[in-house]
This record gives sequence, structure tokens and C-alpha cells, in this order.
Amino acid sequence: MERLPAGGLDGVTFVAVSLPMHTATRLALPVLRTLRARLPGVPLCAFGLYAPLNDVLLRAHGVDVVLGPEYDDALVAAARAAHGLAPAALPPGATSAAARARALAVVPDRAGLPALERYARVRWPDGRESVAGVAESSRGCKHRCRHCPIVPVYDGRFVAVPADVVLEDIGAQVAGGAAHITFADPDFFNGPTHALRLVEALHERWPALTYDATIKVEHLRRHDALLPRLAATGCAFVTTAVESLDDVVLGRLEKGHTRADVEAVTARCRALGLALAPTFLAFTPWTTLDGYRRFLDDIEALGLVPHVAPVQWTLRLLVTQHSRLLELDEIRAVAGPFDPSTLTHPWSHPDPRVDALQREVMTRVGVAPHEPREATFQAIRAQADAAAGAWRAPGPPLVARAAIPYLTEPWYC
Ligand code: SF4
Repeated sequence: MERLPAGGLDGVTFVAVSLPMHTATRLALPVLRTLRARLPGVPLCAFGLYAPLNDVLLRAHGVDVVLGPEYDDALVAAARAAHGLAPAALPPGATSAAARARALAVVPDRAGLPALERYARVRWPDGRESVAGVAESSRGCKHRCRHCPIVPVYDGRFVAVPADVVLEDIGAQVAGGAAHITFADPDFFNGPTHALRLVEALHERWPALTYDATIKVEHLRRHDALLPRLAATGCAFVTTAVESLDDVVLGRLEKGHTRADVEAVTARCRALGLALAPTFLAFTPWTTLDGYRRFLDDIEALGLVPHVAPVQWTLRLLVTQHSRLLELDEIRAVAGPFDPSTLTHPWSHPDPRVDALQREVMTRVGVAPHEPREATFQAIRAQADAAAGAWRAPGPPLVARAAIPYLTEPWYC
């Protein structure tokens, strides 16, 4: 959001860098190098989901303290230590669970951050944009999907943030201009009762406020009866990780849903007027040229083309450090050693034409990021047909379906 000041960093006595996502971590590495060179002797801390995953690499970049996503008390202790202070004392007899609950009960203080309007906004189908804030109602995830970077850190655990803390945080952001809130929970329906109480309270206090959340297909299916309540409380869209429409691939990823579940959820959300924003892992070692063409046809048949952010047509499976994907012989056969420049185990597809198509699709999306989604889709389909040496009779233009709202920042990981 902001550049490091070109001049001195005089008076800086402690630096902590938040690493909640893969992209953030890649961006942070050159910043850490610069900080280490400009601030010799000043303690550097890295915290967040991707910090423990990349512990060795971060320490090689001069980081002294590496903390995971449950960092609150330890981060305060590290900052106090940098100033020669002892850790804040816990009340006598306090257990670690009580300490954890105390940390979760702290309302985030966002003073000093750039103004909300400088971050991603929500763009509505009529072209309007709304200032968006962000809140988390839970941390971690109770699932263990094989490709997910949350799993090596949380291993099936999640914790709920108290509702009054979440609402106070949202209230502060509404006062700061937010007209929309993105719930950043890995999965909003890990605790569905907690989530529903929260959005009903949110809607009662701020009836014009909209929100979006990420909910896995399995939960949308299982908690089908709750979906009307999302639609009635200002939910603008639900992001859901479909990943693939191939049941074999879904089984390898241990996603907990099938293609039939995706079809059922799509129909149900459409009937409720609840916009669904699916995300995909379009390119995996199991993708074939014909499989990718079938995938495009299937998304069109489901009427989801305008729901798909262009980057989703391009995404490659990331094999991160300690990923459960490395349990699979098929992944170990194609993945190389950990590469610190990409923070992944890079892999090559056994069919080099598939990797070539992925690069072409990525380039196509990159050159026209703001064209209508149908036009991007048609161009990608032509690329996929050409790569497979297939001919397709010119068909009627895609039926124009209503666009859905989306965040102006399309990167998810
Ligand atoms: S992919 Fe989603 S549901 Fe699966 S473990 Fe990760 S956060 Fe949880």
C-alpha cells in the first residue's frame, strides 16, 4: 500500500511484517532484505499464516522472530522485548486457553493504516463502487483439504472470534466509510450458528451494509436451509472454492464435495438470488487439453461465465512448503525441490502442451484485464481449442447473464 520512506527510518526500534498470504510473502522478501540492510540490529519479526511455513527462508532474510497466525500475545511480547520490557503479566492462574481467549477479545485498532478507500473496493454490476472493510469472525479451518496452506498450520482446528468484538470492529470501519464488509475467514460456515448470529446482528445495526464471505461447497450444501438468511441480511456474494468439476481431482484434493454438489449449489443460489463467485484450480498435473475444454464447456452450461474472475481461468496448483499434496506419488513425481523465489515446489505437467496453454491463457488474461468476462472466456476457449487441435462450429454468442458484484482485487492467495 505504501513505499518505505526513501529517507531514514530513524527511531524505528522494531519491525513486524504481516504474511497472511502467499503473494504477501513474495512481496515481503525484498522489503525484508532492505530493512535488514537499513536497520542493522533492529529486531525484525514476521507473523501470519505463511511465516511458519517459510521459517528457514525468513530467517535467512534476517528475520529474528517468526510467529504463526495466532500471534497476538507473542507479537506484543516481541515488541516489548525490543524495548527492554518483560512480557505483560497474565493474571495469576491464567491458563493458555484463557490467554488465547483474551487475545481474541481485543478489537483490532486500525489507526495509522491507509484509509479504507485505498484498498480493494466492491464493484457493482451498474459500475458503482463501494468502500470495503474487512473482518474475521473465525481463524483456522476445521477441514484438511490436501492443497490448502492453512492445513499445515491449523491441522483441522479453528477458533471463533467473539461476536461483540467482530461487530465493534465492523462498526469502527463503517464509521470510517465502509459500505461493505468482506469476511476474511477461511470458511465462514465452520461455525454456522456463530456466522448467522453475526450477520443478523450486522443487518439489524446497519441495514444498508452489504457483505461477502467465503463458504465451501460442502457447507453450502449441508447448510442449505441457512442460505435464505444470508440473502436476507445483505450478502452480496459468496466466494466458493469449486476447484474442479472432475470428481477424480476433487477426490485427490479431499475437497469434500462432488460435481453434483456444485451443480446443486449453483441452482440453489440462483433460485435465491445469492450470487456465487466460484474459484478454480484450472491447471493441475491431472489437467488434460480435452479436460480443460470440457471444464470451460461445463462452466458455460452452468451459466457461471460472468461469475468467474478472469484470473480463475489461469490458476495453477500451488505446492507450498509442507503441503499435504506431497503425500501423493503423482505430485512428488512432477514437483521439484522447494524454490525460495516462488515459495513453492515448482512442477511441470507431463504434457508440455498443457503448461504452454496455461502460459497462453495467463498472457491473454493479463493483456485485457477489464474486458467483459464473456469476451475473455470466448478468447480462452479459442486458445484451448487450438491447443487441442480441435475445431468448433461457430455457435451463437453467449447468452448475456446478469453480472455479479466483485472485489477489485482479484488475487486470493
Ligand atoms: S481449502 Fe477451505 S475448507 Fe479446505 S482446509 Fe482450506 S480453508 Fe478449509
